[in-house]
Amino acid sequence: MGTRGQKLIKMDVGELIDKLNKALSDEWLAYYQYWLGAKIAKGPMRGAVVTELTEHSNDELRHAQMIADRIVQLGGTPVLSPEEWYKQTNCGYEIPDDPYVRKLIEQNIKGEQCAIEVYQELSSMLKDKDPITYQIILEILADEIEHEDDLEALVEDMELMLKCEK
Ligand code: FE
Ligand code: FE
Ligand code: MG
Repeated sequence: MGTRGQKLIKMDVGELIDKLNKALSDEWLAYYQYWLGAKIAKGPMRGAVVTELTEHSNDELRHAQMIADRIVQLGGTPVLSPEEWYKQTNCGYEIPDDPYVRKLIEQNIKGEQCAIEVYQELSSMLKDKDPITYQIILEILADEIEHEDDLEALVEDMELMLKCEK
């Protein structure tokens, strides 16, 4: 990054890059969890669930791209190996070993709630320290909030549907 751009950052850039790499690891794991979930999902409203999970997997990949671009701009190196995703993740990876739609969605809701916390913390940290990264994190945070809401709405619809069938 240019020297004038560097001066905008009022915190340790190495520490910032480390935190962004942790978030990048989260995004890759979230991407794969959604991507795989969309392939294996079974149960009520499968079509709607697959559409939502696929959209979210695309969003998580876009988040990974936004974060990696910022890491490079800051002079850092995005995590070099998938092994690092597991070591650096904040939110972990929920193995989708049960393809039942409801179970998959619950695992994903857990992931989104963790992501919301992580990005909330990052945004408060960055607010007065790095306006550019702050803006990127806010954009991602808004998406994660929407993801949680979408998944909770799916669960609600599923419950209503099952109730009608009784
Ligand atoms: Fe994300
Ligand atoms: Fe998300
Ligand atoms: Mg959605």
